[in-house]
Amino acid sequence: MRALFQSQVQVVLPEAPQLVLVTDLDGTLLAGDPADRRRLYRWLDDCREQVLHIFATGRERRSVAELFDASEHAPLRQPHLVISDVGCTVACGDSFELVPLVVEEIERLWADRAPTVDAITAGEPGIKQQPVAAERRQAFYADPDLMDPGLLERLRNEGVDVVLSDGRYLDVLPPGVNKGTTLQRVLELLELTRTDVVVAGDTLNDLGLFQTGHAGIMVGNAEPLLLEWLPRLPQTYLAKGEGCSGILEGLRHFGFGRLLGDSLA
Ligand SMILES: [Mg+2]
Repeated sequence: MRALFQSQVQVVLPEAPQLVLVTDLDGTLLAGDPADRRRLYRWLDDCREQVLHIFATGRERRSVAELFDASEHAPLRQPHLVISDVGCTVACGDSFELVPLVVEEIERLWADRAPTVDAITAGEPGIKQQPVAAERRQAFYADPDLMDPGLLERLRNEGVDVVLSDGRYLDVLPPGVNKGTTLQRVLELLELTRTDVVVAGDTLNDLGLFQTGHAGIMVGNAEPLLLEWLPRLPQTYLAKGEGCSGILEGLRHFGFGRLLGDSLA
C-alpha cells in the first residue's frame, strides 16, 4: 500500500482487507429498503478493517462530499476511497483530496481533447451542460429524442469515450477511462490485485466495473440497457433486491455471508 502514501496524500486504509467492496451511489448504495440500507451502512462501519470500501460514482467530487453534510444517509460513513466523475477522479474518502498518482495520468489524457469536445458540443440540440464541477470529463443532461443521432459518433471520432446512462446523463470521458479501468489502476497501486473484489451498480456507467471480471452485483433496479449486457458478464449476479438489499443479497451469493453475519451477531 506504499504507492498512495508516496503521493503525500494521507489515506488510512486497512492493512490486509478480506474484501474490497466497490459501490455505485445513486440507485445502488443510496437505494433499497431502509432497514437494509441501515444494516449495510452499520456493517461497513463495523468492518472498516476487514472491508476496504470504495465509492464509484458518476457524481462529481463535491457532490459526494455533500452527502455527509447532513445526517440524511446516517449511519453511512465516508468510504476509504472515492472514484468519482465516472472514473476520472480518485480522492481520499476522508478529506476528498485528490490522489495525484492516478489523477495526473487521467488529466494528461483529457487536457488535449477538452477544447475539441467543447467545440463539438457547443450549441448542440438535446444536450445541456450539467451545472456541476465535472473534473477531467464533460457532463451533460441529454434528451436522446432531440439529439443529433450522429453526435456520439462525432465525439468518438475525436478519440474520447462517450457514455449515456439512465437515458439522460451523457458523459464524455478521456479515452479508455471509466469506473472499471480506474478501479483496476487503484488496486494495482494498492497492491491489492489478489484480494477479493465485489462491485455493484445499476446503470450503464457501471458497465466498466462489471467488465473488470470481478464478482459483480447488478442490483434489481438496474436499467434495461445494462441488463442487456448480463449474458456477456459471467461474473455478474443479478440481484432481486434493489439498492442495498441487492448488495446484501449479492454478498451472500458470493460467499460473504459469514463476513456479514459475524459482524452483525
Ligand atoms: Mg447509479
